[in-house]
Amino acid sequence: MTCKIIPIFIPHQGCSNRCVFCNQYRTVGGQPEEITETFFEQTVSAHLRTLKHNGIRRQIAFYGGNFTGMDEAYQTKLLRMANAFIQKGLLHSVRISTRPDCINSAQIDFLRSFHVATVEIGAQSLSDDVLLLAGRGHSSADVIRATQQLRAKGMETGLHLMVGLPGDNLMQFSSTIEKAIGLKPDMVRIHPTIVFQDTALAQEYFRGAYKPLSMLDAIDYCKYAVLEFEKAHIPVIRLGLQTTPEMEAPGAILAGPYHPAFGSLVQEAIFLDMASKLLTSAQSRKEIAFHVSIKDEPNLRGHGNINIKKLKENFALNKIDIYANNDQERGSLMLVMDGRTSRINKCDLIC
Ligand code: SF4
Repeated sequence: MTCKIIPIFIPHQGCSNRCVFCNQYRTVGGQPEEITETFFEQTVSAHLRTLKHNGIRRQIAFYGGNFTGMDEAYQTKLLRMANAFIQKGLLHSVRISTRPDCINSAQIDFLRSFHVATVEIGAQSLSDDVLLLAGRGHSSADVIRATQQLRAKGMETGLHLMVGLPGDNLMQFSSTIEKAIGLKPDMVRIHPTIVFQDTALAQEYFRGAYKPLSMLDAIDYCKYAVLEFEKAHIPVIRLGLQTTPEMEAPGAILAGPYHPAFGSLVQEAIFLDMASKLLTSAQSRKEIAFHVSIKDEPNLRGHGNINIKKLKENFALNKIDIYANNDQERGSLMLVMDGRTSRINKCDLIC
């Protein structure tokens, strides 16, 4: 069932320390210090008014801090507010994000008693060296234990991962992806490391000790991760940070591969690879037509038709026809050329 998430942000609340890359005041925008009943009801009601039909799973989500690291009385207060909407049948369940070292068996039981169905864990990496340099204050063993405990108690679980953290490299990142897949989360989010103002990473960047990934490298890392997760049937529900006005304010982002539509750039890169692979193995290249799902057409074309321009240039083509339709499976591409048909799926890029 489609899930509509109504987010309530609790920036940095429950954080035992400040991770080197993190500035939630920039990434989640201006939020009240304390969530009052009035603020909560107004925010949730405003979101509910925009939902037109009932066949949608509606979750309230507490994001931007460590929910289970907060004082238990405040957790209870927030969960009671959410449960009042659940009891009226207006929401289905609650989702939280938290640190892996703030999860234990008793906390999971506590969350379950308040209809928390989904827990997103800030893992960021599964390399202990990288976690240390990121100032996370927990180990990869904490991520593994927390994920396993949540799954054992029937919780839906998500993992947040980052690319381009200090000390990370392709080999360690591949190992992180492999370990993350082994944990069988229900979903993942991946975003590149961005150098925000007022962070320890900004100081490292200014003294030349941290070099962010280039946009092309960040796309390549994420492309690899997306394909591996898709092969394992684990949905990547978000690529890149959600843009906020605070993030886009002058001086907020100092460096790093930031783009407001980063996820689209990754999907476009995947479709360019798919189209190139089909064309490379083609016998002749006279009348070229690609068939693609309507939803994937923008990914095939790329921003400003950049992929089409690249394909024409790389394969000396004068014209490429594109037929977008509902019958074509998402994530697949069909090439029709001189009456012959060939087809590729995303996962064929790595199988
Ligand atoms: S990444 Fe998470 S744990 Fe670290 S400072 Fe930010 S909100 Fe707190």
